[in-house]
Amino acid sequence: MPELPEIACRAREMNEALSGRVIRAVAVAQPKCLNVSVAAFQRGLSGAEVAQVTHRGKWLFVETSKGHLLLNLGMGGEILLVPSKRLPEKWRVRFDLDGGESLAVNFWWFGYAHYVPPGKLGGHTMSASLGPNVLDVSLAEFRRLLAGRRGAVKSFLLDQSKLAGIGNAYIHDILFRARLHPLETVSRLSPRDTRRLHTAIRAELRRSIEKGGAFYEVDLQGRPGGFLGTDLLVGYREGKPCPACGTAILKIRTGSTASFICPTCQRRSV
Ligand SMILES: [Zn+2]
Repeated sequence: MPELPEIACRAREMNEALSGRVIRAVAVAQPKCLNVSVAAFQRGLSGAEVAQVTHRGKWLFVETSKGHLLLNLGMGGEILLVPSKRLPEKWRVRFDLDGGESLAVNFWWFGYAHYVPPGKLGGHTMSASLGPNVLDVSLAEFRRLLAGRRGAVKSFLLDQSKLAGIGNAYIHDILFRARLHPLETVSRLSPRDTRRLHTAIRAELRRSIEKGGAFYEVDLQGRPGGFLGTDLLVGYREGKPCPACGTAILKIRTGSTASFICPTCQRRSV
């Protein structure tokens, strides 16, 4: 499943490849991934010039001269920039660009391709309900977001309405780097813990972004990301030695999800 590093990489690649280009035609093979009728989607985006591509959480924002195209890959998928004459076998939505290329979007399971007319972005509830991108949050802002919160630190970090961008792939290593137990309560975090957590989030996500994101997602040319399973520190590494102290990594249940921790490095305060 794509998370912030993968989506940040796609946004960067799309911004470089698409800015200034015009969408000549739009084809839809899976109408149920749209928020409007196929005709309204095509009318909205045909002839639109791409201004820039950004992201918030798992949503890609393609800003155009005629409003926004919002893409969400859901459980995963591919966004490929290909010659229009050599389309991939599978695509759900396709944008034919000037210069004889097409942007072919495929969802492995289910995703979204939404059209938002100019000035209406605030009314797109699925993206407007997201918190700020976690990498854009300063330490001071991070402290404000944590202030007064109850509950476990892991649940807080995964709540996309508070902070957008952390999911199950990176959460384990983020907490390990911060030396925090996933069930540690937010209200018990010391100023030092909070600083370490803020630093850990940035270090972990940036490490993957620098490698082009996780290996199970591909770039616009179809090349897999360079962040491998072996790049993980404790996540999904049950029984392997902790990279800091050598203790065997444990898989534990934390609420409805599983967590991977070093029981020595990540003690829960009592
Ligand atoms: Zn350890």
